[in-house]
Amino acid sequence: MLDIIKERLAITNEKHTPGPSQCQPPAWQAEWAASFRRVEDLLDYLGLPAALAGQSGAAARLFAFRVPKAYADKIRPGDPDDPLLRQVLPSAWETVARPGYTEDAVGDRQAIAAPGLLHKYHGRVLLITTGACAVHCRYCFRRGFDYPESQLTRRRMQQALAYIAADDSIAEVILSGGDPLALDDGHLADWLASLDAIPHVRRIRFHTRLPVVLPARVNAGLAGVLSQAKAKLTVVIHANHPNELDAAAGRALALLRQAGAGLLNQSVLLRGVNDRADTLAALSEALFGYGVLPYYLHLLDKASGTGHFDVPTAEAVTIHRQLQTRLPGYLVPRLVREVAGMPAKIPVMPADSGKV
Ligand SMILES: *Cc1c(COP(=O)(O)O)cnc(C)c1O
Ligand code: SF4
Repeated sequence: MLDIIKERLAITNEKHTPGPSQCQPPAWQAEWAASFRRVEDLLDYLGLPAALAGQSGAAARLFAFRVPKAYADKIRPGDPDDPLLRQVLPSAWETVARPGYTEDAVGDRQAIAAPGLLHKYHGRVLLITTGACAVHCRYCFRRGFDYPESQLTRRRMQQALAYIAADDSIAEVILSGGDPLALDDGHLADWLASLDAIPHVRRIRFHTRLPVVLPARVNAGLAGVLSQAKAKLTVVIHANHPNELDAAAGRALALLRQAGAGLLNQSVLLRGVNDRADTLAALSEALFGYGVLPYYLHLLDKASGTGHFDVPTAEAVTIHRQLQTRLPGYLVPRLVREVAGMPAKIPVMPADSGKV
């Protein structure tokens, strides 16, 4: 019976909708279900003119619009240029094809070692545990990724675990997606227990935006599941702007720390969002205030439909240098780009600045 319920949950998760309606869903799932799914509704909520939706319809057909209320509440009402709004508002620019922008910008496809499992770098694998995300970020490099093909059903989960168990060079498993915390506690407990049963897996990492965009997800139940893990846990959150870190996100982060997770942040350098040293310095300070260290600042991956967010490399290097003059080294994220086929994310050096 339990299995049937879990299968149901897996299926509903895949459809980007929260848990079953026949039993009381946790509060976070209800909150997730109540997300904005129409651009007009969000604009109305923020006191912005409906005309701002512009031709966003075509863009939203390519990649659906979705914003939880907890995130909408951090957007400044009445400000069409708000840096958080920019990350989620579909734009007609997304429909413009640009040279160099592709559906598989980072070579994920060639790294698929088993369904839903990417083995790109030595010693660590990345699992696409679900295709669902609480928020749809318009710059997302996985927006073109074929999730249904790679999602981990129960059988595929066994295949992925068998792959990991057979390669003792794999010391770290990254639960990613989509957003791994979009899975319910039962699924996460299954993952952690299965990975803990593989002796060479010493570290488990989550790549998640939920503590920032739907902090209610981080509840006592989740903390309980995480604190059971034997492997060392790291949670890499994803915040791009200091306004994303409010008291609710702070509570979620505190709970994750109490559950024993080390906390890091990754950001994407985005035009019109965080393309100033001031903003990035404030972000690092805010993160540190919540016990989170900055990890990576990614150059935009050139995924189709995201070109309007691009900050050219030379400018990125300048911004990063300014950041280095303002902050202690441990608060400066590494500026990196991902190059398909390379054995690691590549640090962006001043010498690169002439190249594209
Ligand atoms: C980014 C990434 C990782 C993790 O890289 P780190 O440098 O360890 O953070 C692992 N696998 C894939 C496929 C990735 O894209
Ligand atoms: S939360 Fe992450 S994976 Fe999901 S849409 Fe945003 S950037 Fe993409």
